[in-house]
Amino acid sequence: MIRINENYMLLQASYLFSTIARKISEFQEKNPDAEIIRLGIGDTTRALPDACIKAFHRAVDEMAQDATFRGYGPEQGYPFLREKIAAHDYRDRGMDISADEIFISDGAKCDTGNFQEILSPDIRVAVPDPVYPVYVDTNVMAGRTGGYKNGRYENLVYLECTEKNNFIPSLPEEPVDLIYLCFPNNPTGAAITREELAKWVDYAEQNRALILYDAAYEAFIRDETLPKSIYEIKGARKVAVEFKSFSKTAGFTGTRCAYTVVPRECSAWDENGKPHPLHALWNRRHCTKFNGVSYPVQRAAEAVYTNKGQKQVAAIIAGYMKNADRIRQEVDELRLPYAGGLHSPYIWIKTCGNSWEFFDMLLEKARVVCTPGEGFGSCGKAFIRLSAFNDYKSVDTAMRRFSAAVKHGG
Ligand SMILES: *Cc1c(COP(=O)(O)O)cnc(C)c1O
Repeated sequence: MIRINENYMLLQASYLFSTIARKISEFQEKNPDAEIIRLGIGDTTRALPDACIKAFHRAVDEMAQDATFRGYGPEQGYPFLREKIAAHDYRDRGMDISADEIFISDGAKCDTGNFQEILSPDIRVAVPDPVYPVYVDTNVMAGRTGGYKNGRYENLVYLECTEKNNFIPSLPEEPVDLIYLCFPNNPTGAAITREELAKWVDYAEQNRALILYDAAYEAFIRDETLPKSIYEIKGARKVAVEFKSFSKTAGFTGTRCAYTVVPRECSAWDENGKPHPLHALWNRRHCTKFNGVSYPVQRAAEAVYTNKGQKQVAAIIAGYMKNADRIRQEVDELRLPYAGGLHSPYIWIKTCGNSWEFFDMLLEKARVVCTPGEGFGSCGKAFIRLSAFNDYKSVDTAMRRFSAAVKHGG
């Protein structure tokens, strides 16, 4: 009798995006003329930078000739891309990361989800609350949690991100082995300082723990003093793996390219207390289960690092951040407490009551769609997430309506 992985039975159905979609279509049916604006989107909306498109086209043409055709490439990614990442994203910023420590993949979602696989099923795992659901669900599938009770899984340690701690979690009170951190954060938009991040690196060093650092929104950081990588922190090479993606940086959400950094010094221990480099384990896993990112996509990603690519990417990000500024301006005027939007495309706004009630009110009165915070965890119950991924005109109109709705109805 073929049996299932029972851990999958512990997973909670995610009603967040399906419920949002249903509510929107019900509203649209009742109000066919209503022009709805979506500020709930966690996806980029602007076209790929021209430099990437040109490189993409050139690489596709290479595939059309026997002489320049490429079949399987290295599983870890082509050296041309790994070397540019090491140089631009790390060495030029004073960090010691080499090309062979970089693994190119088709997404940070897969990598943040898959990395736990090379670690023991018995480790204690800490995740932020609110959280990017991938970190939680992949550990549920691996059997590291108990059942789901009152909105949380047993045996998971939740790192609460609240108004009280400015959405930067405190160190755990009980020992943990694996820690997921994401800054600038999705969904809160909060950014961490070097000092605060150093506390986590120290904790990991002292407790022989590992940090999985998701820096997918690094490109949105506007303050040079905030860390764009965990390797800006002394000692991080020993205790941290970092995930970055071209998705939010360069609009690759539909094109698919990301990378994971596994420093040579980073280790985990076997049952006899012997250390093993994670680099070798991850390399083994990656080569066994993955056959590399498409050649034209890697060429398109490489073009991000040309002068033109850098300028075009900066202009796209600046456009999104202009939207974020517009959102913050209105929320400031309304005196609603919020986080994010300064170094992130997300603004995390506190509502007076329940996030779903606020969602309904906003849809009814403003014809604006937000994301209810409850979908990201218990700590999100009173919050909504607004996203800057849209065009300025829509954001501007949405925020005028938002303001009027909150003044009259919220
Ligand atoms: C969008 C996002 C990513 C990027 O995922 P890709 O698979 O690279 O598109 C990673 N982490 C977080 C928290 C995100 O919001």
